[in-house]
Amino acid sequence: MKEKLAELRSHGESEIASASSMQELQNVKAALVGKKSALTEILKEIPKLDPALRPEMGGAANELKRHLEALIEARGEAIQLASSAIGADFDLTVPGILPAGGALHPITQMCYDLNDTFRSMGFEIFEEDEITSELYGFDNLNFPPDHPARESMDTYWIAGHDAGRGGDRLCLRPHLTGASVRYMQKNKPPYRFVYPGRVYRNETTDARHERAFFQYEALIVDRDFPFASGKVMVKSILDKVFGRDVPVRMRAGFFPFVEPGFEIDMGCLVCAGAGCSVCKHVGWIEIMPGGTPHPNVLKAAGLDPAEYTGFYVNIGLDRLVMMRYGVDDVRLFHSADLRFLGQFR
Ligand SMILES: [Zn+2]
Repeated sequence: MKEKLAELRSHGESEIASASSMQELQNVKAALVGKKSALTEILKEIPKLDPALRPEMGGAANELKRHLEALIEARGEAIQLASSAIGADFDLTVPGILPAGGALHPITQMCYDLNDTFRSMGFEIFEEDEITSELYGFDNLNFPPDHPARESMDTYWIAGHDAGRGGDRLCLRPHLTGASVRYMQKNKPPYRFVYPGRVYRNETTDARHERAFFQYEALIVDRDFPFASGKVMVKSILDKVFGRDVPVRMRAGFFPFVEPGFEIDMGCLVCAGAGCSVCKHVGWIEIMPGGTPHPNVLKAAGLDPAEYTGFYVNIGLDRLVMMRYGVDDVRLFHSADLRFLGQFR
C-alpha cells in the first residue's frame, strides 16, 4: 500500500501541474480525490487492515489527500491569474477594430432637423396612416374628378373602400396634403402644424424621381396671415437647417389645393448659383410648392374661407438632403447600400 500511495503522489503531482484550464483541473480533481478515485478506494480499505498498520497507513493516505487538494487549489489560483494577464506580444498601440454601429438615415436626420426648427417656431408635429382614401387624397383637396393624378398611372389604388363614406376607393397616399384636412377636422383653429411622411407614386424612377419618397408639409391657418410672413418663415427654416444664408425665390405655380400657388426655389448650394449638374445649370433648385390653402380645402375642413386664410408649403425632403450633401441621384438614398449610407453618420 505504501508503494501505491507513492505512485498516486507522483502521478497526482504531475497531472495537477499539467492542467492548463479550470475545466481540465476539475477533471483532474475528480480523478485524484473524487468519490471514485483510487485514493478514496484506499481510504475505504483502511478499516479492514491489521489494527497495527491502521494508524500509519491512515495517516499517510489522509496526508496525501490534503497534499493533493492543496496543490489543486494553488494550481486553480495560478490558472485564474494567468487568464487575466496580458500576453507579452500584446501591443497597446496597434489600432483596434471598431465595432460596426448604426446611424440615422440622412433623410431621417433632415426630418428631425426640420422638426426641431419648426417646433422652435411653435409648430405641432402630426403623423397619419400611409393608406388614405379618394376623399382625403383628392376630393377634399379640390382635385377635379377628371384630374390626371387620380388615374392609376400616378396613384396606387388598393382593393376596398373607406368605411367613412361609401364608394371612396382606398389608395396609398400620393401626397401628404390629405392629412391636413383630417387634422383640421379634428382640431380647432388657428393651426400651426407640420406632417412628415412617406408618399407613393406609380412612376418610372430616374435620378430625380422615386416610387416612394418623403414629403414634409407645413400648414398655418389663421384669421390673418400675411403672405410675406410665409416667405420669411421658409427662408428662416432653410437658413437654420443649412446653417448659412440660403437665397430663396418664389414663382407662380399651379396646384389644385392652393390659391394663389407658387414654387419656391432655393439657390443651389453646390455651385453657389454659378450653375452645375445638380441644379441643371440654372443656379436654382425647385425645393417646394406652396401657397394659400384653396377656399374649397378650407370648406372641406369645416372652415369659412371668408374668415380664415393661411400658408402652406410641401418640402421635398429627399431633394433637401440631396442639396445638403451635393448628391445628384435620389435613388442612392433608397438603395440600402451601406457603402453609400455609411458616409452620413
Ligand atoms: Zn448648382
